[in-house]
Amino acid sequence: MNQGILLGVIADDFTGASDVAGMLVHSGMRTLLTIGVPVAGVVDADADAVVVALKSRTVPADEAVRQSLAALAWQRGCGARHFYFKYCSTFDSTPKGNIGPVIDALMRELGTDFTIACPAFPVNGRTIYRGHLFVGDQLLSDSGMRDHPLTPMRDANLVRVLQAQLAQRVGLLRQDIVARGAAVVRNAIDVLRSEGVQVAIADCLADADLHVLAQACADMPLLTAGSGLALALPHVYRERGWLQPNPHAARLDPMVGPAAVISGSCSTATNAQVEAWRGAGLQALAIDPRALARGEPVVERAVNWARWRLDREPALIYATAGVAELQAVQAELGVAHSGELVESALAQIARSLVEGGVQRLVIAGGETSGAVVQALGVQALRIGPQICPGVPWTQAQGRPLWLALKSGNFGGPEFFLQALKLNLHAA
Ligand code: ADP
Repeated sequence: MNQGILLGVIADDFTGASDVAGMLVHSGMRTLLTIGVPVAGVVDADADAVVVALKSRTVPADEAVRQSLAALAWQRGCGARHFYFKYCSTFDSTPKGNIGPVIDALMRELGTDFTIACPAFPVNGRTIYRGHLFVGDQLLSDSGMRDHPLTPMRDANLVRVLQAQLAQRVGLLRQDIVARGAAVVRNAIDVLRSEGVQVAIADCLADADLHVLAQACADMPLLTAGSGLALALPHVYRERGWLQPNPHAARLDPMVGPAAVISGSCSTATNAQVEAWRGAGLQALAIDPRALARGEPVVERAVNWARWRLDREPALIYATAGVAELQAVQAELGVAHSGELVESALAQIARSLVEGGVQRLVIAGGETSGAVVQALGVQALRIGPQICPGVPWTQAQGRPLWLALKSGNFGGPEFFLQALKLNLHAA
């Protein structure tokens, strides 16, 4: 029985959208992911959730607000009853936003005076204690995120980070409260509300905490979180009889055809993945941002290089660089300019490869994935099985084209090999 769309998710980047959609599918929710707000409002009649992928993380705040409100209006038009603003598990933002301004606008539009903010993703090592975000054993501010090209995160105290972006008062739902269960959390929220707090950073150390938060907050018109909470929510919907899980929610057409990896992330995890690929002796080509800036035909060269190789085995094309190299390029070319040059080049390369027959594409980097998916003209994605927590395979709706969109920080060193099922140890 189709019960209509239960949940509308607004994601601030494309990898985040595929991450959260993967979580919902994994928990049995039929989920459609649209790239941007669809022009014509046709929704899969069987979907329980619609995820709108925006590329709003690093655009000016008023533009992020405009896009997010457009997504909300579209989802409301589809009949969605609950809403979820999804941002990165490392809370990627700048002092100007965009997480705070978007939360503010969505709350106003939905007429709600309270929500939580919880980027935790314990299975991937993102935990929050006393409002401080940890990446594995390190505070966010000591992790590789300190040197992110676009959103360097140098303060791990999320109450302070979010307060700098919001006029409303930001508070904290402490872990010792969360550990005592949903009823205690609800009481604590009442207290926070009476103190004038409108957004509370929610501590979370383990999946059990996410389940408590989902139980305590599932009724709220708006939740804001990383993808972790989306793993817990469907269970609560089921307990309440709002959702009937679908065992085939993650089914895609069988994956076939030539494969390539495009990497524009400079995260610690992606650097290790590029190293592992090269270390395995697989074909790889580096893109030089300085050559792009000089106007050299870097894209054409890369496409020609790949054309002769892809029938034999997958190839990696990457701009991924270590911190020192990245900083040198950014100092020379400017942060925004170098980022745009690289994104645009990788997107053009991806489009040419797909036009040339590539059907399976692994893309590393949130902004990079956004640029590539837009260049490929993909409008909606079906969500398939997980490669690793946070990264599912997806299929472009109605096309024999499969995409894995990997947020920079995700995946172990062998992620690219794992995604393409390259069993090198047997070779
Ligand atoms: P992540 O998911 O790791 O944050 P993104 O793709 O979102 O990755 O962001 C990485 C940014 O860094 C992109 O704008 C990309 O174009 C840029 N970039 C990648 N490689 C380089 C490089 N060698 N020099 C300068 N900028 C780069």
